Amino acid sequence: MPGFHFKNKRWYSDGVTLSKIAEKAGTPCYVYSLPAFEARFKEIDQAYKSVPHLVAYSLKANGNLSVIHALAKLGSGADVVSGGELFKALKAGISAEKIIFAGVGKTDDEIAYGLQEGIRYFNVESIPEIEAIDAVARKMRKVAPIAIRFNPDVDPKTHHYITTGKKETKFGVYLGDAEKVMRVVRQCRSVNWTGVHAHIGSQMTQTASVGKAAKVIEKLALRLRHEGFAIHTVNLGGGYGIDYQGEKPPEPSQYAALVLPVIKRLSATLVLEPGRYISGNSGVLLTRVTYVKQSGTKTFYIVDAGMGELIRPSLYEAYHRIAPVEGPQKPAQKVDVVGPICESGDFFAKDRGLPSMKRGDLIVIFSAGAYGSVMGSTYNARPLPPEVIVRGNKFSVARSRQTWQDLVRREKILT
Ligand SMILES: *Cc1c(COP(=O)(O)O)cnc(C)c1O
Repeated sequence: MPGFHFKNKRWYSDGVTLSKIAEKAGTPCYVYSLPAFEARFKEIDQAYKSVPHLVAYSLKANGNLSVIHALAKLGSGADVVSGGELFKALKAGISAEKIIFAGVGKTDDEIAYGLQEGIRYFNVESIPEIEAIDAVARKMRKVAPIAIRFNPDVDPKTHHYITTGKKETKFGVYLGDAEKVMRVVRQCRSVNWTGVHAHIGSQMTQTASVGKAAKVIEKLALRLRHEGFAIHTVNLGGGYGIDYQGEKPPEPSQYAALVLPVIKRLSATLVLEPGRYISGNSGVLLTRVTYVKQSGTKTFYIVDAGMGELIRPSLYEAYHRIAPVEGPQKPAQKVDVVGPICESGDFFAKDRGLPSMKRGDLIVIFSAGAYGSVMGSTYNARPLPPEVIVRGNKFSVARSRQTWQDLVRREKILT
């Protein structure tokens, strides 16, 4: 398995030691193993090869252009949720007919951009959005292909912040509103309803909810066809979980076993939108211990990365594996690993067993390839770190570190 491994007392990304990367790129920095992204993409692509399908990589998990470009070369499409992501997907070489535009709050400008570029379809999340797309398309003398995201009211059994498929969340159209949606679509002459979509949540670690959602969507697709809508695409979203702390997430083939029969019965084209599965364990965050601080009985490793680089622990109490980049790995004491930002919420781990470390030592924070850099912020005027791409024995900086000048570039002092 490509990615990250421990050998001769040091951590590697593919054929390169993480310490060498830190030396060259400085810390903090993200390290992405391109072969790891590719391998994970291929696993999903392979699992569904018996049906017509499109794996539309969800850019929001990791939007690095080199990563997107590598996936594009393998045939990946893109799931985008903003005009900015659409721009990035196109720029990285994903063709418009493989791009799906999702999100609950598309603006008229974003809709027009998607239509102009000729994307595959819009994943629509509400009735007012159907009407807005219809109006924009009519003005442009185009017909907008749409899939409608329904909320199958299935619990993905994950963290409540990343649950999207229950009826209380803001995502998708309530199934009970299907009649109403049909009435609206019939009146909207500039939209063409071709697909149904469900994405029930993220970091799922069991297959049953996907199976349930697929069944709900199958029933719905049959009903819509019966009503005269030419539904030929079924989009089951993303959400495949990964191993952060010893979870045993299902393999793509295990989800496929539940999904493929549905797709075959419908003779539909399947679209999937994996983000985290492809990117999560394909990247790490490197950081250096700035201080070891003793406070009463507590020990803090204060490091040079913080919630600006990886906010998941602060935002969802997410667990990330942490290890010294070199030397003994065996825990010797319980410590808090915290960042330099002026917030108590700025931490990576609390009471974590780690070896004794000292000022200047390097630390690797694992599973930072998804929802790391993309959620980055410059809070406390801390420049965004570089993104380093590794392939085999080679590595290069794919995105350079922001400078202090960058932080003020778009600002002027008004007097
Ligand atoms: C976030 C999101 C995805 C990707 O989710 P992962 O858990 O990263 O696979 C896919 N589809 C939609 C609609 C999303 O909002």
